Amino acid sequence: MMTEFDLIQQFFTVKNDANIVASQDVIKSSVAESLIKGIGDDASVVRLPPNTELVTCTDTLVQGRHFFGDWESVDQLAYAIGYKSVAVNVSDIVAMGATPHSVLLALAMPKRLANETWLDEFAKGIHEACSEFGVVLIGGDTTQCDTLVITVTAQGWIERGKAVYRDGANVNEGIFVSGTVGDAGYALTHLDRDIGRQLAHRLHEPTPRIRLGQALANAPHRATAMQDVSDGLIQDLIHIAKQSGVRMQIELDKLPTSEPLNQIPIAERLPYQLNGGDDYELIFTLPKGADIQALQSQTDDTLITKIGNVIGTATDITTNNAKTDKPLIELVFEGKPVTPDDPYPFNTFPDLAGYQHF
Ligand code: ADP
Ligand code: MG
Repeated sequence: MMTEFDLIQQFFTVKNDANIVASQDVIKSSVAESLIKGIGDDASVVRLPPNTELVTCTDTLVQGRHFFGDWESVDQLAYAIGYKSVAVNVSDIVAMGATPHSVLLALAMPKRLANETWLDEFAKGIHEACSEFGVVLIGGDTTQCDTLVITVTAQGWIERGKAVYRDGANVNEGIFVSGTVGDAGYALTHLDRDIGRQLAHRLHEPTPRIRLGQALANAPHRATAMQDVSDGLIQDLIHIAKQSGVRMQIELDKLPTSEPLNQIPIAERLPYQLNGGDDYELIFTLPKGADIQALQSQTDDTLITKIGNVIGTATDITTNNAKTDKPLIELVFEGKPVTPDDPYPFNTFPDLAGYQHF
């Protein structure tokens, strides 16, 4: 019978050795140097570099909600569940423009999973994600629960005053997205089909855009607003639009589409691209003069695509306190407005609400 102490020692402490972290590369050695105390005491201690600000976030993954609920899937996906819990949190740190540093793992799990086979795979997912993203596991908590609930807290740092928020988008700026969108959302509902299986890695092992986030915060023409796509492109753009007080126009024919997803008829794939969550790409606004090519070359050629423009202020839409019918987000396709009356290329205008937890 594995005790809580054994479990932490065997699966979460051993590989968390500062020397392993330090040998990886330059970013990671700065991580190791700044880690004063990791797992094993009441709390961890990290030394922040001078002139930086601490950036912190947390996200919970719940069985049956953020990953499949049945035990067979939980068994099969142990690695992916571990990997993804780290990746989605790192993605939030990255969406501020910050450099991720460390994660904490609060694990509430049923007895049936507290076995060598499951924990080994799960811990491998956690450790490989940490290593991939240059972060270190510095603590957590382990408790028993009827279902699997994983809460990861991530922290990172950023040069003073450089964090990029959701509220800075301005009229006439371009709207951009990294990578491709819709892959994870499509995979989620089509793992039984060939194309879904080709895209499964996008659902199970998302790629936080670490270098791009940092480049966007530090470029001469910096991003004015940024966030990661977790609930769906449109819903997440609406967050930026609302907080910045602006209206946006999105060009549906510009949405970056992966090769597998491109095999699907446009009217069928667009809803996944607009509403499907879990892409963990960055959406951001850039002022005139921003050098996309320079950004791309600084980030191992991460694809950056302009998908629209900030076309006005949101105050335009309330005149005399009476709302006009102008939406925060307008869709166009090949230059023509896409509306409920004329929804081409859709058959019916899509619901743009994205994923709502409540
Ligand atoms: P406490 O009783 O003070 O909460 P714990 O026995 O829960 O301490 O944890 C002992 C140490 O192990 C702490 O440093 C804690 O951060 C770490 N820890 C516990 N569970 C995990 C886990 N799942 N992953 C990583 N570190 C963990
Ligand atoms: Mg504890």
